[in-house]
Amino acid sequence: MKKIIVVGGGAAGIAAAQGALDAGADSVWLIDRNKELGGILRQCIHDGFGLNKYKASMTGPEYAVRSISEIYDNPRLHISRSTNVIGVKKHNDEYQIQIQNSEGLKWVGANSIVFATGCREKTRGMLMIPGTRPAGIFTAGLAQRLVNIENVMPGKRVVILGSGDIGLIMARRLCLEGAEVAAVIEIMKDSGGLSRNIRQCLLDFDIPLYTGHTVSKIIGRERVQAVEICEVDDNLSVKKETAQIIDCDTLILSVGLIPENEILSAAGAELCDGTENVKTDSYLQTSLDGVFLCGNSRYVHDLVDRVSAEGYAAGQNAALFIKMQNLIEFQDPVTMNAIKGIPQKTDIFCVLCPNGCRIKVDVNEKGERNISGNGCPKGVNFVEQESKTPSRIVTTTVKGESGRLIPVKSSLPISLDKAASYVKECQNMILSKNDLKEDRRIRVAGFPDAIGCYD
Ligand SMILES: Cc1cc2nc3c(=O)[nH]c(=O)nc-3n(C[C@H](O)[C@H](O)[C@H](O)COP(=O)(O)OP(=O)(O)OC[C@H]3O[C@@H](n4cnc5c(N)ncnc54)[C@H](O)[C@@H]3O)c2cc1C
Ligand code: SF4
Repeated sequence: MKKIIVVGGGAAGIAAAQGALDAGADSVWLIDRNKELGGILRQCIHDGFGLNKYKASMTGPEYAVRSISEIYDNPRLHISRSTNVIGVKKHNDEYQIQIQNSEGLKWVGANSIVFATGCREKTRGMLMIPGTRPAGIFTAGLAQRLVNIENVMPGKRVVILGSGDIGLIMARRLCLEGAEVAAVIEIMKDSGGLSRNIRQCLLDFDIPLYTGHTVSKIIGRERVQAVEICEVDDNLSVKKETAQIIDCDTLILSVGLIPENEILSAAGAELCDGTENVKTDSYLQTSLDGVFLCGNSRYVHDLVDRVSAEGYAAGQNAALFIKMQNLIEFQDPVTMNAIKGIPQKTDIFCVLCPNGCRIKVDVNEKGERNISGNGCPKGVNFVEQESKTPSRIVTTTVKGESGRLIPVKSSLPISLDKAASYVKECQNMILSKNDLKEDRRIRVAGFPDAIGCYD
């Protein structure tokens, strides 16, 4: 029986397994080093995933649980968790993959492989920020994991370096959990984040954004005590005369992601010119025959729907490769291009879905309002609501009896001024097994129900 191994069980790997199964593969083995499938989605408890694939705005855990449920019972699928893939080599007509888990190290064979190993964050060492080396410096992904999965707050007064979507989302999350976010610092003149996220993560909470600035020094011995920030010139060099100090106990770095594909490059896969990225053709195949690459390990994607579409195509092609049939050229089916850049405080950005439409309201001489720019009728209701009581779907976590956090989202939008109280109410709850109902609704005293996400 010919076998496909999918390395990595995030959105890309799950979709690759599904693509391979749908294309008739006899045996698909999905391997992930984590205890649970889902990859980064498990810690992204905010809303806004899956609009293209599922026509719904879901949290990361909801998207993960739904995608896994679509393949889980397939008898041709074998899943190994807590299993690390550490090497790959060609042996005669097949590939050998070295895996490591609680049973030790071993080599296993595969006729085709899909790599879906995601990406990792850039660290302080890569940025070479001058200053001391105290505790209190985290990458944004680590901080997100601490808050959303480990139930640990990284600090009380936080500065975030980098205003991409991950930095923005962490600013809001930390604020709602009771930290003070003193500033978000961005070296470029504009933010790389979606306008919708700047609206709902910074402007909603009055968090200052310093563009054209960087952190020029970290201050503190045992723990971070402050950071020095400076303006930068057109060459991104620090203008020392503009230095100002911001007191904080925590610095969060959200300064970029790097595709994780060292195993493939060590196996001899060709790289794109001048980069560390592995080259793929239009079938998502690397220079190694029958070895495919998808998701954030191919390049860093901002939409999970795109990752899933690519993963599915890579898995499909792995199955076609084994059957010696023609591969299918990958064409990205996701056309959504959400608006990026810094909105004005007065701009109306609909936050109901990841499209994040900029909505214009014109009033004519007769006082009649003309609403434009909304991609769908929901935008009109959003404008009405925004002019009365700005409200948002709030996502947070509730503790289960075992201490494990359950991601939840409010069943209805909550007015912005009550969002932090809603999160506090959820923080104070401990759910027993009996509280977990089939409809996933959880009572939150004095507020709309929360919808829980559990397998
Ligand atoms: C903070 C954040 C916010 C986001 N917000 C949104 C949003 O609002 N809407 C949206 O559509 N998209 C969003 N995205 C983007 C999207 O969610 C991700 O791009 C997507 O989930 C990545 O999927 P992936 O499978 O490529 O990678 P990952 O989810 O990182 O999965 C890779 C998997 O590979 C495993 N792995 C790696 N190496 C090995 C190995 N050697 N052996 C075994 N297993 C291995 C890892 O354990 C992991 O499970 C966000 C991303 C981030 C990080
Ligand atoms: S107007 Fe419609 S399409 Fe545009 S962001 Fe709002 S819900 Fe999405």
